[in-house]
Amino acid sequence: MALAGGVILFVSLPLSSTPYGDNSYGTTDPFMYLTGRFDPYRHPLFVKLTAAGIPCRGDHHILREEAARALKLLYDDFIREHPKAPFWVQSSTRNFESQRVIWEKKWRRLGEERRFRTDPKARGLSILTYSSMPGTSRHHWGTEVDLNVLRNDYFERGEGRVLYQWLLKNAHRYGFCQPYGAGRNEGYSEERWHWSYMPLSRDFLAHWNRLYDGNGGFFVRKGLFSGSEQLGVLAPVYVNGISECCR
Ligand SMILES: [Zn+2]
Repeated sequence: MALAGGVILFVSLPLSSTPYGDNSYGTTDPFMYLTGRFDPYRHPLFVKLTAAGIPCRGDHHILREEAARALKLLYDDFIREHPKAPFWVQSSTRNFESQRVIWEKKWRRLGEERRFRTDPKARGLSILTYSSMPGTSRHHWGTEVDLNVLRNDYFERGEGRVLYQWLLKNAHRYGFCQPYGAGRNEGYSEERWHWSYMPLSRDFLAHWNRLYDGNGGFFVRKGLFSGSEQLGVLAPVYVNGISECCR
């Protein structure tokens, strides 16, 4: 990131001496990293958002240092313009295990409905409206944040609208994009609360796709999560079903 004439410029680092860049994953194996099988709280490239001065609620408050730094700049500028508007991170990095807890909770709840009990694919597709299969979430990457309230209608009026309109106009200046915008043909439904730090996540997406080619069997492994045998094959569809502005 560099400042030039008051404009923040983001330069995508070349994938130089290693196939995945010099410092993208530290010492963590790239496929382990991209599928969330590491502990971000023990990873040297991550920082706690509260320590970076960003208000947080909920359970997961840790991000890649570059993303946290950019988010702090965004937060400071938003609050300067709208001192009374609420802004907080509701969720950020979640590893495989955290995502599995979310998935299994929803899986159990839907299992109480007769129509889903004998149809694991339909059951999984219903969860995939908003939630990722463990191993496929962008939240594994340390580049994603969920802001304020996880409901689209919150961002239609009042203080939610103020924040969302500001983000649509300004977030790109800090490197952030909305991966699950309206008008896509594949993937999760619209999520106005979810924003991604693109200088890193753009490369991570490319790496994820490259690694999927040799490791696709991982996602359909029996017992990886409930329904993995039927649903794991959809991993690339959901990982790639993002807005053009995030590519
Ligand atoms: Zn999210």
